[in-house]
Amino acid sequence: MIMSGSLSLPAFRYGGKNEGPRLLITAGVHGDEYLPMLAVHHLVQHFAGNPDEADSIRGSLTLIPVVNESAFIEGNRCGSDGKDLARTCPGNPDGTTTERAAAALSAEIEKADYYVDLHTGGTELSVLPMSGYVLHSDEAILEKQRNLARAFQLPFCWGTSGELEGRSLSVARDAGVPAIYVEYLGSHREVAEATAGIDGGHPLVHGCLNVMRHLGLLSEKECTSVAPESVEDSRPDSGHMQVCHPAPATGFFNSCVALGQQVEEGDLIAQITPPGSANPLEVRANRSGKVLVLRDYPRINQNDATAVIAEPYPNT
Ligand SMILES: [Zn+2]
Repeated sequence: MIMSGSLSLPAFRYGGKNEGPRLLITAGVHGDEYLPMLAVHHLVQHFAGNPDEADSIRGSLTLIPVVNESAFIEGNRCGSDGKDLARTCPGNPDGTTTERAAAALSAEIEKADYYVDLHTGGTELSVLPMSGYVLHSDEAILEKQRNLARAFQLPFCWGTSGELEGRSLSVARDAGVPAIYVEYLGSHREVAEATAGIDGGHPLVHGCLNVMRHLGLLSEKECTSVAPESVEDSRPDSGHMQVCHPAPATGFFNSCVALGQQVEEGDLIAQITPPGSANPLEVRANRSGKVLVLRDYPRINQNDATAVIAEPYPNT
């Protein structure tokens, strides 16, 4: 369905009375990634209960718990128009529902000074908790992104190609806004945590608050208790999680490695057994490194990603 007129995203805004940076934090670019939405909601509830703290923020904070509402209503990665918002940016204010949400998000990113976009692996993938950023051609922006990624205090940081298009981070890159994305589990692992409910101690909530401390929005001292492992990969398709180690056929999936495991090139990482076949097909690691993303669902389509392995490149 094509609609016209700009769409406004449900946003919560704080601060603005004191000098400081404008920080944007979003969740729900994909409609089936619930932990980040709950984390942002937790922050909304936190500031509702602590209005003095919200008022005293230096600079400003904008929280958007669900960017693509139609994808959330569908319970899917994509909106009701079948589009993935993270392939649709900068969008079109007169386009389909996802294109309009992408345009509204792009406008929010362009007026921010820093941006954090929260994700998970969705229904079928699990991702090692990590902060990611693009290898920006501007060294000053790149260094700010590295620092933001560390400040989020998840165990892994991953810098990848700046050449991928259509993402929220592509909009930030083009606008010169330092930005990170965050990934945190997915599949049944995410559902178990999300169903139990999250509190202020959850790493996604803690990470957002720590980025606020890092940028000076909150007066508390930044927490630096986690020293994340960091890998940068400058190859042009690095960071495109949906294309790595594709399944040779549609069938039953079982993984032969664990999330976070160190593997060597040639190691068996997954088996795919087409229904009606007695013999599993093999997927072997095409590089050495840490298993950053792993399929976590018993069925797979041909060419879907089975795993992403993080490997430094160039190797130094
Ligand atoms: Zn996502």
